[in-house]
Amino acid sequence: MAKNTITLNNGVELPAIGLGVFQTPPDVTTTAVAEALRQGYRHIDTAAAYMNEREVGEGIRASGVARDEVFLETKFWISDYGYDAALHAFDKSAGKLGVDRLDLILLHQPLSSRFDLTLDAYRALEKLLADGKVRAIGVSNFMPEHLERLLAETTVVPAVNQIELHPYFQQTGLQKLHAEHGILTQAWSPIGGITSYGGGAKSTFDDPALLEIAGAHGKSVAQVMLRWHLQEGRSAIPKSTKPARIAENFDVFDFELSSEQLAAIDALDTGVRGGPDPDSITLENYGMAIPEA
Ligand code: NDP
Repeated sequence: MAKNTITLNNGVELPAIGLGVFQTPPDVTTTAVAEALRQGYRHIDTAAAYMNEREVGEGIRASGVARDEVFLETKFWISDYGYDAALHAFDKSAGKLGVDRLDLILLHQPLSSRFDLTLDAYRALEKLLADGKVRAIGVSNFMPEHLERLLAETTVVPAVNQIELHPYFQQTGLQKLHAEHGILTQAWSPIGGITSYGGGAKSTFDDPALLEIAGAHGKSVAQVMLRWHLQEGRSAIPKSTKPARIAENFDVFDFELSSEQLAAIDALDTGVRGGPDPDSITLENYGMAIPEA
């Protein structure tokens, strides 16, 4: 049975399942976060660009769970890349969240067209780590070429790369590279949300193979996908605003998929990404400013 904690490459413990809050409107974020913490979650994934960090902080305080029991993860947006800008991004995020220290900060995207700024932003994360302002640092949406360059030109190996990963898009080559460097793979859209809300032709929630496995265990398709991540050693951050689904997505520690079932899910990979190609993200098209705290 996979345990609910993963040890990062610097020894910090990360609760494997967290609540994601992308597209969670600010007015329901506080209740969703507080509900998740009451249900037993101890890990929240937000981002400066989600514009709900303030409400995430309020949700943590409203839950009654002590701050130091919650693994709080945020991401700096591309408009805050560069060394000084990324140091200031910490003040913005920590100020909105109402905390002195973050547990994990990720660079939200590689900025291929300005990788110099991306590297300088990562060096700022290294400084925040050295100063004790954050317990671990990492990246998101980095592809092999971005990671190789980051590893060659900076000092601290990222603890995490958060990437699109669900049964229909598994990035196995990238996962292998992570394993070689001790980088944890954290799955975004872990239950394939992007295959449904993204207007995709085929949603993971309707997949016959997943439905069959779910039926065999008396679990939901979402629970089967989350269990698959856990048993393959990944962190996953499913998003919901609905209390029943928030609870369902955390009720994944009492069953075990067989190796045949894991292999059947592995075989669903289409190699087709639901989200944008990371190289298409530029300051010109996505560089909105992140407000001050
Ligand atoms: P998910 O795979 O978590 O799916 C979320 C969608 O599925 C929502 O529409 C939700 O609706 C629905 N849902 C949730 N639980 C269930 C369930 N048990 N049964 C059926 N439907 C369910 O996709 P996300 O794209 O939201 O990814 C999760 C998190 O990953 C984000 O919130 C964010 O934190 C992170 N992320 C990071 C990205 C990055 O670039 N680094 C990009 C995208 C996401 P409802 O809320 O109505 O329940």
